[in-house]
Amino acid sequence: MSELDTAIQYLPGVGPKRAALLSSELGVNTFGQLLRTYPFRYIDRSSLSRICDIRSSDAAIQLKATVQTAELKGKGPAEQNGKPVFAGKRLSVIVSDGTGAVEMVFFKGVKWTWEKLKPGTEWIFFGKPQEFNGSYNFVHPEFDSPDKAVSQGSGRLTGVYPSTDKLKNSGITGKAMNKMMAAALSACMPELNETLPEYILREKGLVDLRTAIRDIHFPANQDALVRATRRLKFEELFYLQLSLLKQRYVRSHGSMGIPMPKVGEAFNKCYEQLPFPLTGAQKRVIREIREDLKSGHQMNRLLQGDVGSGKTMVAVLSALIAVGNGYQACIMAPTEVLAQQHFKNIQKYLRGTGVQPALLTGSSRTAERRAIHAGLEDGSIGIIVGTHALLEDNVIFHNLGLALIDEQHRFGVEQRSKLWNKSRAAVQTEHGTVMLPPHVLVMTATPIPRTLAMTLYGDLDVSVIDEMPPGRKPVQTMHATDSKRLALNNFIRGQIGLGRQVFVVYPLIFENEELDYKSLEEGFENIVRAFPLPDYKVAIVHGKQSNEEKNFNMTAFAEGRANILVATTVIEVGVDVPNASVMVIESAERFGLSQLHQLRGRVGRGCEKSYCILMTGNKLSKESKHRIELMCQTENGFELAEEDMKMRGPGDIEGTQQSGLPVSLQIASLARDGMLLNEARAYADKILSSDPALTAPQNSLLVQELRKERYSVRDFSKIS
Ligand code: ADP
Ligand code: MG
Repeated sequence: MSELDTAIQYLPGVGPKRAALLSSELGVNTFGQLLRTYPFRYIDRSSLSRICDIRSSDAAIQLKATVQTAELKGKGPAEQNGKPVFAGKRLSVIVSDGTGAVEMVFFKGVKWTWEKLKPGTEWIFFGKPQEFNGSYNFVHPEFDSPDKAVSQGSGRLTGVYPSTDKLKNSGITGKAMNKMMAAALSACMPELNETLPEYILREKGLVDLRTAIRDIHFPANQDALVRATRRLKFEELFYLQLSLLKQRYVRSHGSMGIPMPKVGEAFNKCYEQLPFPLTGAQKRVIREIREDLKSGHQMNRLLQGDVGSGKTMVAVLSALIAVGNGYQACIMAPTEVLAQQHFKNIQKYLRGTGVQPALLTGSSRTAERRAIHAGLEDGSIGIIVGTHALLEDNVIFHNLGLALIDEQHRFGVEQRSKLWNKSRAAVQTEHGTVMLPPHVLVMTATPIPRTLAMTLYGDLDVSVIDEMPPGRKPVQTMHATDSKRLALNNFIRGQIGLGRQVFVVYPLIFENEELDYKSLEEGFENIVRAFPLPDYKVAIVHGKQSNEEKNFNMTAFAEGRANILVATTVIEVGVDVPNASVMVIESAERFGLSQLHQLRGRVGRGCEKSYCILMTGNKLSKESKHRIELMCQTENGFELAEEDMKMRGPGDIEGTQQSGLPVSLQIASLARDGMLLNEARAYADKILSSDPALTAPQNSLLVQELRKERYSVRDFSKIS
């Protein structure tokens, strides 16, 4: 058995108990996995500080100093029968380096430490200085003898690893991690085989794997660390790209799609009578989709466009291409409210085209539902708009040619796979009749930078609507706290007086739905008190209401019968109410940037000047403050998304990247390593273009690496 695969419990100093913790806290089960757990920062132990230079703001520093006195302090006598008493005592050691003196304090391991730190002996101390009664001390510093410290490698950069309280409490401290790494490294070094082709190392000037793994854990200096980091980042990004692009090659070269050679009459009619000229971006995206549908390969495309960029129009025209070629199209929305809104808009656009869309949701009545089921099965319904109800087993399509999915994050992969599996269209080819899956267009308003999108959804093609319809007024965004509540209410009264409408959104604050509901109810009551009947009408929409109730209230607001809509984000406020000019977001600090941006996109759709007011508590964390400021500064969704990526720092586990991405990266950062990512992608692309299935002997190393779990990617588009 290889050392790399040896269970971590057999590493000296680990054992079964710690092994269980390493597994649950860090996902480390083997020596090899341990070596692939990298430090997230380094402490510079290559330099010594002088005691006279200590500042309270210092991070951990290193001192070389001689023990002056070592005293046992605390209640009771320090000695009994001439022997020191350790129980209940702390050890106070005064050390000096000729420039000054500081105190080192130990509460644990007092006896052991007292025996070592004898007056007159010299040590290297390492720790973080704390200010105490006007002078500095160190609590539980690490210490080593000066000669040993150098030979053991304290004389250089020391890695700091991801950790948790559980790990620390069980004795897996930073120092223990360093020791474990050293042991694992010496056991596995001979087995660490190169994972990148030799020519890539040469062309990119990357260090080999052994050097990189050694130096990432124990860098001799800054240069060595930089080289190791670059190599490991490249490796990670390269395999990520290879894995994503390989899926894509397999798809575009392997899976046949329904050929849709023409645009058809309905498309042309609809196009001629559009209420507005399409933006350049909309036209470009429709061309891209059109090319895909013609190609004979199955389309798997992600359509990105900021809120309000006009994705619905693109969806409608695409659906008409399918219809024009004799196939059905479905448009799936994540909520009932959105499905209804789509349906209304689509009906408008389709007037005069001869195509009649149908709507199927959870609240469709039985008789209606039966008629729709029948129409879908016999093919008389060309375009169906709906919710999850479309995925039910008794929904059978005659020949679904195109599935359009709005707001992809709400649909799980399994749900899409369901749609896919039951909906194949019979297509006549020269080889006879074949059953082919529908083309897929996923629409999202979450703006992900383009290169990033290609990385994350490497097997999806990406289209971007990067231009807003003309005439859109900017939304003025403001930040306020509770002390401005009265002024806010006056402002709202003023807007309502002008005939406008107002959204008030509450976040999900508690894990507990009941409590969330309560905070919403309270907010609602406050608003009703400030805006009483009969002058004002306030509607409320939340996830606990029945569909009927929700629709009733939503419609009241959409049709202008209510002035204010109070809502949680449980229902995505994805409705288009052009008359709404104010969006108030309560506890705005609890929302992420993208979500704030989405919510803000609900106003500014009409021709009136619109406002977004971010209400927060008085005390904000640095990060929340930054988010709120950004929101006030820019309306550019891509800029916000990029910032959002950068700001997503350490999560639950100190020092690991936490993100909602489909891949988990160990060392590279999608936000910061864009250049390296592009280089890695170019190599992956070149390799696959000459050997798409990676069957050539010179690529066997790559295939072997790709099988490793760390390169597995959650597949967002795979629906077969
Ligand atoms: P989203 O991308 O958020 O789904 P919609 O498709 O709902 O955006 O469009 C937002 C609004 O912009 C709608 O009211 C729509 O009628 C309007 N719209 C879409 N395209 C254009 C255009 N080319 N010119 C003017 N208005 C447009
Ligand atoms: Mg939309």
